[in-house]
Amino acid sequence: MAHFTSPGMKAVIGLQRAGHLQDQAARRKQRNNIDDLEARVAELSLVCEALWTLLAETTGLTDAHLMARIRDLDLQDGVIDRRKAHLPVDCLECKSKVSNRATMCTFCGAPAPSKSPFS
Ligand SMILES: [Zn+2]
Repeated sequence: MAHFTSPGMKAVIGLQRAGHLQDQAARRKQRNNIDDLEARVAELSLVCEALWTLLAETTGLTDAHLMARIRDLDLQDGVIDRRKAHLPVDCLECKSKVSNRATMCTFCGAPAPSKSPFS
């Protein structure tokens, strides 16, 4: 069977292949990023458990104390969602509400208030 492909069709096919290869590379990079994040979360969970067990052994605190504190922190934004709230903070200069992740006030440009170690 004869197979004829015009130069224009060859260019289209080439562009499709290039696009497919770019998509594959992007998916591979996303997979690697997810794998890296999963490994990091697993490592942080291990560190948290090690810290908690050391603290419990040396202070007498129990898992019930820990669960109550987790619930209190979770509820800071009024929602139990297993996430720490990132509540806005008041700018020291203009008193506007500013993201607690900002380095400066988005309204007046003043430096952001000092952050907690867990912000
Ligand atoms: Zn401000």
